[in-house]
Parts: sequence; C-alpha cells; structure tokens
Amino acid sequence: MTLNIRFAPSPTGYLHEGHLLSALYVWAMAKLKNYPVHLRIEDHDQSRARNEYIDAIYEDLEWFGFEWDSKSKQSNRHEIYEQALYKLEKQHLIYGCDCSRKSLSLENPSSSDGEIIYQRHCLNKDLKITPPNTTRLIVESSPVQWNDLKLGPFTENPAVQCGDFALRDRLGQWTYQFAVCVDDIEENIGMIVRGEDLRSSTARQIFLMSLLGKKTPPHYFHHSLLYDPLTGLKLSKRQHSQSLRAEKMKGLSREVLLGQICFKLHLIEKEVPMTLNESIFLFSKQIEGYLQ
Ligand SMILES: [Zn+2]
Repeated sequence: MTLNIRFAPSPTGYLHEGHLLSALYVWAMAKLKNYPVHLRIEDHDQSRARNEYIDAIYEDLEWFGFEWDSKSKQSNRHEIYEQALYKLEKQHLIYGCDCSRKSLSLENPSSSDGEIIYQRHCLNKDLKITPPNTTRLIVESSPVQWNDLKLGPFTENPAVQCGDFALRDRLGQWTYQFAVCVDDIEENIGMIVRGEDLRSSTARQIFLMSLLGKKTPPHYFHHSLLYDPLTGLKLSKRQHSQSLRAEKMKGLSREVLLGQICFKLHLIEKEVPMTLNESIFLFSKQIEGYLQ
C-alpha cells in the first residue's frame, strides 16, 4: 500500500506564514521521497473550527499552486474514532475522569513546558467513559525511542511527560492526540513533517499508535519555526499574525511571499520573487542536507 505524507492544518483561523513554511517542507519532502500528499483538515475541536476557514485553506493553498492527492476532514470521521476507542476499551486501557479543569491545574504537577501531568485521581473510580466525563488512556511507564530525521534520536517516557492523557473531552470532542493517531494509521501516513512545537507529542503518539495496532511508527521530521521579529514569539493565529490572505489583499504576489520565506531561511542570498517550484526545490535541497 502507498505511504502518504500529510499536511494537516486546523481551521481555527486563516493560514499564515508559519503554515506556508510547513507546507513547503511537506511538499518538498513529498517530492524528494515520492510520497503522495494527503490534505487533512484537523477540525476535531468543533468549538473553534469554522467552515469559512476550511474554505479559506483550500483557496489559499490553491492560490499558491499546491496540489494534493487526497483529502479528509476529521469532523466526518466520528465513527472511525468510535471504533478505535472501542479497540482500546476492549483492552481495558481507558477510563472515565470527572476532574474539572480547575482542579487539574491546582492539584497536578506540570512538566517544564507547562503541561499538566495527570495523577490518576480517577483511575479506580469506575466512572463512565462518556460525556460529561473525560476519557483517559492508561499510559504505562515505558521509554519510547524514535529517531527524528532532522533532530536525531530521542528517548522519552509519556507517563512522565503527561501521564494518562485525554482521548475525548468532557464535551465529547476527540482530542488532537487521539484523532491524529487514528488518522495517521487510517490514512497510511509514512512520513510526518511538522513544526518542532509538536515534537513533544511524538512519544505519546507512537505509544498510542502501537496500542491501536501500528507497530512500525511513521518517520518524523520536525522543522524549526518562524518567530515574530518584534515579539520573539512563534507565529501563530493566536498572536494575530498577518494572514496570507491579508498579505494577498495588500497586493503582494505569491512569488514575493515565497521569496520572503526562502530569504528568511537563508535559502537565497537576496530577497527576490520565487515560483512555487523553485521554492520547493530549495526546501528539498535543505532537507536532503539533513538526510545525509
Ligand atoms: Zn480525574
């Protein structure tokens, strides 16, 4: 079966330069390794996802000239997630938790990056796994080893990083961690290219995928991020970064925007307009340097 590479934006805002960076890495890796590209709309969080942002993702990618081979949307996949959850339930690997967000933040230690490490308050309470309870996964303490194609080898223990993490929240929404693991298996993803802000999720995702039956994890390549020169913060929708369509509305061409990003990554010496193919070529040269 063909292995895919995926580009997986969340429709909780318009695409910005950070997404363009990620897309260029994804399409460059796809070209280099001859993977088909799968476009996944990660709208698992229905309280934040909006249809107008989904339309905008397609429009913006098409405007740049990106082409994908297949696509999916998490909100269409409820039954697939239900089946995967049932697989874990049969193995007695999940339980219900009625801790409030407030009590969790007060009572639990957090890791160095501020993540709460759940202390199994509800493990033996025999609570229902359905809303309004959170569904949690039993995370046994064991080191997960993986090799990042860019960053090298890692050994991490999800039980220490986050403990029994949530698969479904109190509102019945699938969590990012769960949906993404089910999708990566179902969509036959062989290579995951994404920003290094998601690197710390890798060990728990490999762990969860193995419980769901995938014993050979995908390859991983975590690229560095772009930072706002004024605030020093990573570019994200929450910090109201300039969207790509706002730049377009100002009259900037896609070639100018691509040239800017190639220049920021020191792939070209002077900031000049670049076509999509030229940009993808330069990104694939950079990736090749890491793979050697
Ligand atoms: Zn609990």
